Amino acid sequence: MRQLPSVCMIFLLSSIGPLTPPADANEAARRLAEEAGVEIIYGIDPGPDPIDLGAEQVTLDSNDRREIRRNVRAMIDVYAAQLGIQVAPDFAVGIDVLDDSGEFAKRYGGSNVPAGFYRHQTRKAVVSGSGKTEHIQRTAIHESSHAILGDQARRAPKWLNEGLAEYFEVLAAGAGGAEIPTQPRRRQQLARAVESDATWSVEALLQSRASQWARLRGRSLHLAYDQAWSLVSFLMEDPDRRGVVRAMLEGGGAGTNSAAAIEQHYPGGVKALDRDWRRWLDGPERSHRY
Ligand SMILES: [Zn+2]
Repeated sequence: MRQLPSVCMIFLLSSIGPLTPPADANEAARRLAEEAGVEIIYGIDPGPDPIDLGAEQVTLDSNDRREIRRNVRAMIDVYAAQLGIQVAPDFAVGIDVLDDSGEFAKRYGGSNVPAGFYRHQTRKAVVSGSGKTEHIQRTAIHESSHAILGDQARRAPKWLNEGLAEYFEVLAAGAGGAEIPTQPRRRQQLARAVESDATWSVEALLQSRASQWARLRGRSLHLAYDQAWSLVSFLMEDPDRRGVVRAMLEGGGAGTNSAAAIEQHYPGGVKALDRDWRRWLDGPERSHRY
């Protein structure tokens, strides 16, 4: 059988965050990866120099890895400062990048091939690396967001979990802080779909269950992600609305009851949110800076 080109990275993100990392953080990641059955070929040490554990089939160069690490760290900072989510000091996640898209689809996709996925029990994300580096970067940030919420807001509803992952995956950390750029094409396409009633109502999205998401295919699935992304983007745009997201993530998340949380925390409740979000969809583009 042909050897699969597979790359695994272990990120020790807390080691670059504001919390003091445990001295044996790298060892902890190694143990975690072993338990998860993940092959370690790259690790990031809490010290100044990254430790290379023998990378031979790396598709991401050191700049790519540094960039992912920087962007995920910036996402952790936004989670902490804006949403009250503190990442645990021993936070680590293994990421496998499979170069072979055919093999990835065969193993994980079936008829509904994802770009990547994250399994919290094993703390392991698998990313299809068949696309561009940018795609791998985005998926790595996306899956890391799931890992953070898996630890800190386990009961966050599916739409919020996916919406935040989609929102953060384009994050770019710069000298002046983090920027979430606009996605005008995505927004316009969604606006057209909303106009033709192809999407859920905001209330239906808020009440959607993971089992409903699992049944979505093709365009409906894409639209559900687009809608979740847009609702999170709308809510993250100003401090008051961010407070609503924060409230939904408190105490491990609002579960499937995010509609009730919106009624309680958003002025005018779900109806007003639906109206404001539709207006926002047609309004001017604005990137977010933190
Ligand atoms: Zn996701």
